[in-house]
Amino acid sequence: MRIAVIGAGLTGVTTALELSIRGHEAVVFERRSGIAAEGSHALPCVAARGLWLAHAAVGAASGVPAPAGRGQWLWQWRRHRSAQPAAVLPRLAAQEALDAAGAARRAAWRAAYELAYDHHSGVVAVLRRPADVQRARALLDTHAARMPGVRWVEADALPQADPGLAGAADVRGALHWPAGEAANGRQFAHAVKAAAQDLGAKFLFQVDVTALSSAAGAGWRVARQRRAEDADSGLATRQPPTAVPDEDDDETVPFDAVVLCSRAAVVRLVPGGRGGAAWGAAVQATVTVPLRDAQHAAEAVGPHGAWLDPLARITLHRMGDRVRAAGPWQLGEPAGARPGADAVQPLFAALEQAYPGATRTARAQLWRGAAALTADGLPVVGPAGQPGLWLHHGLAARAWSWGPATSALLADLIDGRAPDGIDAALLSPARLR
Ligand SMILES: Cc1cc2nc3c(=O)[nH]c(=O)nc-3n(C[C@H](O)[C@H](O)[C@H](O)COP(=O)(O)OP(=O)(O)OC[C@H]3O[C@@H](n4cnc5c(N)ncnc54)[C@H](O)[C@@H]3O)c2cc1C
Repeated sequence: MRIAVIGAGLTGVTTALELSIRGHEAVVFERRSGIAAEGSHALPCVAARGLWLAHAAVGAASGVPAPAGRGQWLWQWRRHRSAQPAAVLPRLAAQEALDAAGAARRAAWRAAYELAYDHHSGVVAVLRRPADVQRARALLDTHAARMPGVRWVEADALPQADPGLAGAADVRGALHWPAGEAANGRQFAHAVKAAAQDLGAKFLFQVDVTALSSAAGAGWRVARQRRAEDADSGLATRQPPTAVPDEDDDETVPFDAVVLCSRAAVVRLVPGGRGGAAWGAAVQATVTVPLRDAQHAAEAVGPHGAWLDPLARITLHRMGDRVRAAGPWQLGEPAGARPGADAVQPLFAALEQAYPGATRTARAQLWRGAAALTADGLPVVGPAGQPGLWLHHGLAARAWSWGPATSALLADLIDGRAPDGIDAALLSPARLR
């Protein structure tokens, strides 16, 4: 099939690769001048099977981290409703299935296409309150048989799990995933794009999709407009259409299907896109800092893989000779790509407390990014309500962990095959209507 993919963030590139693997002709439309220019630009990437345990240990019964701040009451109400006992277990099982399937698919791609990107193993989630420790131990007792990859580590044994981690008087222990992963998501996205191109996928940049239309039996038309980069802001400004560049696609040939891989595109292009109610816009700040001594980067300096403080909702993780720190999700639209001091100071403090002196904070790169965060913590993958129109987004903090698996699921659905191991109904856009 000839399939248009709208958006070249992590979700769009993984979709393009999976569709190309299945022999489809994927054409990716991206309004920015390269891939991973918006929500996937400087994102943290951490994955571990059963990561929800860390959030549940600090009281987020649903396993979905609570965003900071108030607002979007309908979203908050949906989150509360999805934390009711009858809804929780199937959803957590789906999250675990995506954790496992994502890791397996990523490993398969890495082997088959020699994807080169910085990745590291070991994830620790530190717990500070006695009640959280008790909850974590009880959760492990209940679920460990299903998740043999996670274990409890007492505070005094933490240096064995993560040699660079400093002791902290109030840390009582941690959940530890020795095979959990951390990675450089942008490198991953570029490697995936190259693999997709090798298999025939086309990427068209600075092309803003403005409308979608279909006529019965005649396929989908993708109306688009070329954009030029605004050098000052890095944001694109609209320009009149220009000459069609070489790599452009033939606009006269319709598509058999369209996959929307962006919340913004869904809200704009799908009639009744139902933006805020079902999937909130959420923002998060990150800082990326070099390790103080790059020569020692491979040794016990800085995080071995990833460090999480689920109570403070801060994540630190290794990316080659750099470390990335990310703060709590905040509901709302981003106001610019540069976060304020109030957002980044807790990240510097966490870095210094956990890995004192390991990084050069004076050379930090600051960023603020947005993603769609569904109230039940599961992505949106499936038919959009019109034949040949598909949604793939809402991966919130899991586009790297789950994207390879949700791309495979989506390709199965497009091909009319029964998905393997994941209950597609739990991810279907229909659940949010
Ligand atoms: C702060 C932060 C922390 C994260 N932490 C993690 C983590 O720990 N683990 C993990 O796996 N993932 C993590 N993520 C990733 C997260 O999962 C996001 O969901 C992911 O980056 C979003 O990717 P995307 O491709 O869905 O969206 P985006 O990267 O935003 O891509 C959408 C693209 O669509 C384009 N677009 C939109 N409308 C149009 C149009 N009309 N025409 C053409 N192009 C269009 C945009 O320009 C954009 O490039 C994090 C993300 C953020 C922001």
